[in-house]
Amino acid sequence: MKPEIDKNKIVIFSGAGISAESGLQTFRDSDGLWNEHAVEDVATPEGWSADPKLVLNFYNERRIQAFQASPNAAHKAIAKLEEKFEVVVITQNIDDLHEKAGSTNVVHVHGQLKFARSSLDDRLLYPLEDKPIHIGDVCEKGSQLRPHVVWFGEQIHNYEIARDHIITASRVLVVGTSLSVFPAAGILKKARFHAEKIIVTLNLEKKPHGFKLLRGKATALVPSIINNWLNV
Ligand code: NAD
Repeated sequence: MKPEIDKNKIVIFSGAGISAESGLQTFRDSDGLWNEHAVEDVATPEGWSADPKLVLNFYNERRIQAFQASPNAAHKAIAKLEEKFEVVVITQNIDDLHEKAGSTNVVHVHGQLKFARSSLDDRLLYPLEDKPIHIGDVCEKGSQLRPHVVWFGEQIHNYEIARDHIITASRVLVVGTSLSVFPAAGILKKARFHAEKIIVTLNLEKKPHGFKLLRGKATALVPSIINNWLNV
């Protein structure tokens, strides 16, 4: 039997588009990162084996940009929801703009730029803030440090936690994602039939069943959706 829906619970599912208006490039838009870098070079275990220096440089640059970025009106509105609701933010983003905006329950499914990880033992994480990782930086077991991000072909983080939250949510708001990276995008299939389900994004290949699509910028649409929910 499915668990009961919690009327007070809202799940936000976000992607790179929510941070675009904070100055962080997405991957797939026309001005996105994939136009400057081949995905297989910088976001796969094979790319890491072939040229670790290139991969470290790519994420070192992303880390500094994310560190310097500020949350925008969409991140801030989401944080405000906690005044009235239990809110869980499930994010594909590797920046920490939801946390900077004040959200207290953020589940990262694709890792976080602000940590380095041992390339030998997944459990060994090291805080970096804005610091770079260099070739020769090693974990306590002596193996090279790598970015704490999920690459194509690697296992998503916190899948069960994210799935269990979405199953009990009475409202699901999806913001700024192309929904083309799986299995993360598949988590939305777990949203309940009776939940209110909205997607805010600019482009979407395939809308998941039961969701209402609002095409537009996150900062233009998200604050008003959230104000409606706060004022019901
Ligand atoms: P994506 O690049 O595939 O898609 C971004 C989506 O956001 C597109 O649908 C686009 O139309 C939309 N978008 C762009 N600007 C927007 C705006 N102002 N308002 C609303 N929507 C806007 O990104 P994705 O779906 O998140 O998936 C790809 C992967 O990219 C994720 O796994 C994530 O780890 C990674 N990524 C993260 C960051 C970050 O942390 N800021 C940046 C780039 C990529």
